[in-house]
Amino acid sequence: MILNKFDTKPKMVVTASFGIEPGRRVEYIPLLEKALDLTLHKPEKILIYNRPNMETVSVVSRDSLDWEKEMATARPHDCVPLTTNHPLYVLYTSGTTGLPKGVVRDTGGYAVMLNWTMSDVYGLQPGEVWWAASDLGWVVGHSYICYGPLLHGNTTVLYEGKPVGTPDAGAYFRLLSEHGVAAMFVAPTALRAICQHDPQASLGMKYPLTRFRTLFVAGERCDIDTLNWAKKIFKVPVLDHWWQTETGSPVAASCVGLGSSLSPPDGQTGKPVPGYNVTVLDTDMKEAKPRILGNIVVKLPLPPGAFTTLWKNDELFKELYFTKFPGYYDTMDAGYMDEEGYLYVMSRVDDVINVAGHRISAGALEEAILQHSAVVDCAVVGLEDPLKGHVPLALCVVQNGVTKGEDIVAQEITNLVRESIGPVAAFRKMIFVKRLPKTRSGKIPRSTLAAAVNRKPYKISPTIEDPDVFEEIETILKRHI
Ligand code: AMP
Repeated sequence: MILNKFDTKPKMVVTASFGIEPGRRVEYIPLLEKALDLTLHKPEKILIYNRPNMETVSVVSRDSLDWEKEMATARPHDCVPLTTNHPLYVLYTSGTTGLPKGVVRDTGGYAVMLNWTMSDVYGLQPGEVWWAASDLGWVVGHSYICYGPLLHGNTTVLYEGKPVGTPDAGAYFRLLSEHGVAAMFVAPTALRAICQHDPQASLGMKYPLTRFRTLFVAGERCDIDTLNWAKKIFKVPVLDHWWQTETGSPVAASCVGLGSSLSPPDGQTGKPVPGYNVTVLDTDMKEAKPRILGNIVVKLPLPPGAFTTLWKNDELFKELYFTKFPGYYDTMDAGYMDEEGYLYVMSRVDDVINVAGHRISAGALEEAILQHSAVVDCAVVGLEDPLKGHVPLALCVVQNGVTKGEDIVAQEITNLVRESIGPVAAFRKMIFVKRLPKTRSGKIPRSTLAAAVNRKPYKISPTIEDPDVFEEIETILKRHI
């Protein structure tokens, strides 16, 4: 929750008493108290859902209401008719490119788009069970835990747990099996976590997945190794697709309900979804040739469901998304299309590294590195270099139980990158870290990491799950660079 004095001015704040993370409780009330201290705006009411079987909490500095007590006396209310463009919510982006922005969504167009995608993109019939493994607070949670499946008549799984550690790496399989899930949506980072802890998925094998048909991945680039691992383990088509908080639903996907191929080429994120006219442009606004990295843009108008503005910031909305490429929505993602029209999303444009004039995406380098069986996660950023401008620096996380020495792994990785990308990448530098900083939705904040490795001042976005990781990495960097 972001309660910035320049942003939303809620009449009411609704919160649970705390959240649960593996091994710890995240107390929400002290966070709320702090936010209330910071903001000039004071909400009229605070409603607290006290989690069952725990002590009841309240906001110390102000009166607050208790959910159970209020519900006990509440009476049903008729639906309230709204115009199509009525703002439904403000949702903050994950903050990989700086500070989060408040995306404003409308009501009617969004409902129509989500309902349509449930059948035509995700291939579900009403009545089937669907699971989007996300936090409810992110766009995936809003669109596909809540509104989409419920509008379309699907049962939706809401899971407050992790892929590993709650209690183990078999949790996803148990849920898929017990609830008879037909299709699931997951971030690649969750698949990597299961693969890291249980490469053969032996904990999951005891759960029959009789109804499971399709696994959709999105949220960050899914490297081909992880994709193939998931296909082997879940034994269903694993389909990468691409979208953003701004769009609210997929921009490119394999539209299962429309009969798209269930075995598209490796590394693609689907073809443009009806309503989205996607093109790749170079900086001179010329359409890039197939397989040439460029700026991914969408020809206007945007379809229903896409954002209508940034909260209280129409000017920034125009400037940020519609100025650089007039007539287009600038997704700020870099990628390319192949000859058949499949889109490959490689990284944020800001994460493209310019090595002596060669533009190489962080995504392509990471994919090459992740081919090494010892590496489960990695982030590549540009390290300033007096000769080449920038050279790539990889921060790699090694799989549990790997006994090979770091020097050997490093040499093997260097060879892999040279083979797949070529010597132009000038790839030599890597460090091994225990973990990478991630947003709560599993994305790596590469631009912040780049500032950290280049010893530049940086600001950690409030969406970063564990800001301490930056300190850990800085300590390792001091030893190596
Ligand atoms: P957010 O708005 O926080 O959901 O982040 C959206 C960004 O995540 C996109 O602009 C992409 O950079 C990245 N992203 C989402 N899905 C994919 C995907 N399937 N492949 C590569 N990057 C993705």
